[in-house]
Amino acid sequence: MEPTTRQRESQRLQRVPPYLFADLDRRTEELQRRGVDVISLAVGDPDLPTPEHVLEAMRQAVMDPATHRYPPYPGTGSFRAAVAEWYQRRFGVQLDPDRQVLALIGSKEGLAHLPWALLDPGDVALVPDPGYPVYRVATLLADGVPHRLPLRPGLGFRPDLTEIPTEVARRARLMFLNYPNNPTAATVELGFFAEVVRFAREFDVVVAHDNSYSEIAYDGYRPPSFLQAPGALDVGVEYHSLSKTYCMTGWRLGWVCGNAEVVAALGKLKTNLDSGVFVAVQRAGEAALRGPEEPVRRRVAAFQARRDLLVDGLREAGWRVERPRATFYLWAEVPDGFDSVTFAQHVLERAAVVVTPGVGYGEVGDRYVRLSFTTPEDRLKEAVQRLCRLR
Ligand SMILES: *Cc1c(COP(=O)(O)O)cnc(C)c1O
Repeated sequence: MEPTTRQRESQRLQRVPPYLFADLDRRTEELQRRGVDVISLAVGDPDLPTPEHVLEAMRQAVMDPATHRYPPYPGTGSFRAAVAEWYQRRFGVQLDPDRQVLALIGSKEGLAHLPWALLDPGDVALVPDPGYPVYRVATLLADGVPHRLPLRPGLGFRPDLTEIPTEVARRARLMFLNYPNNPTAATVELGFFAEVVRFAREFDVVVAHDNSYSEIAYDGYRPPSFLQAPGALDVGVEYHSLSKTYCMTGWRLGWVCGNAEVVAALGKLKTNLDSGVFVAVQRAGEAALRGPEEPVRRRVAAFQARRDLLVDGLREAGWRVERPRATFYLWAEVPDGFDSVTFAQHVLERAAVVVTPGVGYGEVGDRYVRLSFTTPEDRLKEAVQRLCRLR
């Protein structure tokens, strides 16, 4: 008999939880095969195009043979300088581009590799639940022990740091955080980050703050950087991505910045795993960071209009949803009698709309589904009408 894939998997890989939504995917495909027009609100992938000045920079860069060779491991000097300038402008934080900035093949890549750089077997990583699944899975793959930080609505989906048992905090080497948050769309003020720095100092924990949504914010709200908190540079790093801000998910460009030792450790690991980001893509990234802000503002305004369309429509239909100040997600509590998977199935069968079950982001997420608004307005309107007929 042919061995199954699972038998071939290392024990390390077997620790990765199975894909939870195979059944939901199968039903979606079944409906589509029968000719049903299914609308997906499941993916967080902007449908709007990358800004024109970024495309133009890429066109030029691609024609320059100097970009065709192996890139410098930590990223080009000029990309890292552009990051440092952007940081200064946007957050008033001064970074040394040579020691405190590292280019990444998308922030996911750098998040996934961090536990390999920092954890020894059995070390604890504190991971939010619900949270971006990479934090937990990367910890497991690196033989670390993930400890859940439950995010609940009562505390505005912030973790209660005082709830972490001292025993666990002492074994913790790493804490992942992410605000503006995927999937809950929660935001925080700088005061919360100051608390995090105090905790990190007390227990000698490295903080990895994922700020992928720093620019996707509404109603005048400007999300803070973790590195603005006093002492943050001593304890942690922050991840950023070009993906969401400039609608560049396919380009694969992000960076990590902050504490020089952590940046160096991740950089050392990465020189042994990959050979960096295509220099032409880094030049395009520089153009994005140094270029006009207007294209970003226009995109954010489009997301804001969609947010209102979705929130107002759903509230009229009796859904209890918050109007998020940032990200392009709604985190909606499921009605009594459902869990997140059965409710997503119900929505798919009755409305032909795909939403993401919250349990995919952790056990604590199982009372919620996530709806994204990275779908064109006409399709979103149609989705809202269908969801309104649902109940
Ligand atoms: C989209 C997303 C990322 C990944 O971004 P890339 O730079 O495209 O890898 C990281 N963290 C969160 C929370 C995200 O939602």
